[in-house]
Amino acid sequence: MSVHEYISQTLENIKKSSPGQTTFLQAATEVLHTLEPLLTREKKYLDHKIIDRIVMPERTTMFRVTYMNDKNEPCSHFGYRVEFNSALGPYKGGLRFHPSVCLDIIKFLGFEQIFKNSLTGLNMGGGKGGANFDPKGKSDGEIMRFCQAFMNELYKLIGDVKDVPAGDIGVGGREIGYMFGQYKKLTNRFDGSLTGKGLNWGGSLVRTEATGYGSVYFAQEMLKKQNSSLEGKKCSISGAGNVAIYTAQKLYQLGALPITVSDSTGFIYDSEGIDVELLKRIKEVERKGLSEYAAAKPSAKFTPVNQYKAGTNAVWSVPCDAAFPSATQNELNLEDIKTLYSNGCRLVCEGANMPSTLEAIDFMLAQKDFLFGPAKAANAGGVATSGLEMAQNASMQKWTFDEVDSKLHRIMTNIFHDSYDTSVEFGEPGNLVLGANIAGFRKVADAMIDQGYV
Ligand code: GLU
Repeated sequence: MSVHEYISQTLENIKKSSPGQTTFLQAATEVLHTLEPLLTREKKYLDHKIIDRIVMPERTTMFRVTYMNDKNEPCSHFGYRVEFNSALGPYKGGLRFHPSVCLDIIKFLGFEQIFKNSLTGLNMGGGKGGANFDPKGKSDGEIMRFCQAFMNELYKLIGDVKDVPAGDIGVGGREIGYMFGQYKKLTNRFDGSLTGKGLNWGGSLVRTEATGYGSVYFAQEMLKKQNSSLEGKKCSISGAGNVAIYTAQKLYQLGALPITVSDSTGFIYDSEGIDVELLKRIKEVERKGLSEYAAAKPSAKFTPVNQYKAGTNAVWSVPCDAAFPSATQNELNLEDIKTLYSNGCRLVCEGANMPSTLEAIDFMLAQKDFLFGPAKAANAGGVATSGLEMAQNASMQKWTFDEVDSKLHRIMTNIFHDSYDTSVEFGEPGNLVLGANIAGFRKVADAMIDQGYV
């Protein structure tokens, strides 16, 4: 059987063993096909059945989370933790609270996390968790009770050298605080079992900013390779959470102009540039929809989702030089990328996890004049800084903002060079999808071989 046939067979097996898990299948398809040149060259990975093993989580836990809402009614949700791979270190990866969460979504995220964490060069395995709970519109008391109920199960799995969760969509500083409080209560331990903690109780400086800053550092490296820079570039951003906000902030610092943001209600086009402080106030303090932004700023236009052309994400219809998808999976499809490209966009840097569809990625890779920074590489800054938080917690130290930021910058630069050099090694210079997947995979696979069949 050829390597290609073997990969296709593995993907068929996933379809049979995990019916309906289309998002996980999409993530596996992207990774496995790009590994073909490595698997053809190095027989050991097939001999040790690494592919068969790496697509299976080491452990999957699913549990009921029941909390009492403000009307004193019990509400129940599905909680998950997928401990995917521990070859390189303790399981590491965030928790997502969103109504769309199901085992398929957590498996796709956990699978991506394995390779992303490997690329950071730090010793972290891959995992992910979450619940199909919608924090939107919930009171602070409801959020606290939900987080405590979630931790009543999760504490059995986690630990600073076992499994270290953090935030993701719907889980920020507030939620991590409530979960950490309950973890401490249940275990009587104050340790680094969660990252993204508050700054005065063990959190790392720059963790909040890290994913957005890291994504922009990655874009900067891609452009530098072409003797170009972000200076003067108009940039479209999707999302209005942590990643989007700090992508916008870093873009300003590097002389670019962020002109869009989006949320589940619609998108903002602000020709004067996104006002980061106003955005933070609306999304983080008031926790409101983006129409409030337009109400407060005359240069901004709000387009509600019900006015989007069917099958497209209208935030990508705004002409720009570079795009930073920083909301969620599959938010940029073939039609969106064609629109971006015909409007002059020549760079996409992924701040979210798997925001581009497989067809959109193929389109970008086929263009000779286009730079594409894939999620596993480009958004690794968040988890990398979580790794730096773990190091600070374990050694009872607190590093300064500049220390952490310069380490983050160095990690992102290294990830770019690792991915780029690997793309050259395999004869596809600039194909960072192939470069990042092979570079990330190789370290994990070699460690799995070293550690035997477990
Ligand atoms: N949720 C983030 C990610 O997708 C961060 C995970 C972490 O800090 O552990 O990488």
